[in-house]
Amino acid sequence: MDRPSSQRSEPREVLELRRLREDQPDLASAADLQIQLLLLQRRVQSRVPLPKMNLESGYLDKALAAGKPILVFEQVPIDWSDLRFLIRSTAEAMRSHDAIETDDFRRVDVLARDAERLPAAIRNWYEAARPASSGGGEIATAIAGLEPLLLQAMRPFLSRCADAVMARTVFQGWSEGTCPLCGGEPDFSVITPAAERMLICARCVSRWRFHQLACPFCRNADRSKITSFATRDGLYRLYACDVCERYLKAFDGRHAPRPVMPAVDAIATLTLDAAAVQRGYR
Ligand SMILES: [Zn+2]
Ligand SMILES: [Zn+2]
Repeated sequence: MDRPSSQRSEPREVLELRRLREDQPDLASAADLQIQLLLLQRRVQSRVPLPKMNLESGYLDKALAAGKPILVFEQVPIDWSDLRFLIRSTAEAMRSHDAIETDDFRRVDVLARDAERLPAAIRNWYEAARPASSGGGEIATAIAGLEPLLLQAMRPFLSRCADAVMARTVFQGWSEGTCPLCGGEPDFSVITPAAERMLICARCVSRWRFHQLACPFCRNADRSKITSFATRDGLYRLYACDVCERYLKAFDGRHAPRPVMPAVDAIATLTLDAAAVQRGYR
């Protein structure tokens, strides 16, 4: 491969992941997989159209005031042949890094080939994760366990929606622990230079402001029941809740040399995950 030109066209995240795998060889396999997924997603993302929704700021803010995530499934601009490609390629990439069980790989392959069943399965994946008051519920057995893979495959479509909506609203007034756009849960957060905490949706990567310390999963705000610690370099923080026993990682933008990059920071903090799990959090 022509190295200089391929580097020039590489996204910043990929360059950061390459640096990470050099600095921390233990993370090489996870970083390589992430690079592969990012490049796959980028191929599709550039041609995803705007979401099929009213994008006027006034309309969005009014919709948000109703307290429910504003992006309904029909508005997600999914191209089904692109999605099938992403599902298959994500599964292949995960298999080559031993990141998927053989049985799950087979189930995914069957699902991606079934043009009739796929839309209902994806709708179920999208809606099941929403809060119960917004249509959330049980995940179908056909896709149970495949959620992390579907999340990666759906990322280009959902992050396109998030980019479009975040260009027009900052989700002001939304104080829930779940995503104002798609209803998903956060899996990362960022502390801004003004010391505010923004949660980052695991599915669409929307960001919204949330209480500095409270647990977004159970809303516990009792300081004595939140364990928080930072990495030695001060770049990352972890908040663990002693009520629901879940945890959330944060990128501390107050001292950081670059902005938060969820795809990079998720890999860079795998040792923090291990530390949290060892202490009994999940
Ligand atoms: Zn979301
Ligand atoms: Zn909690």
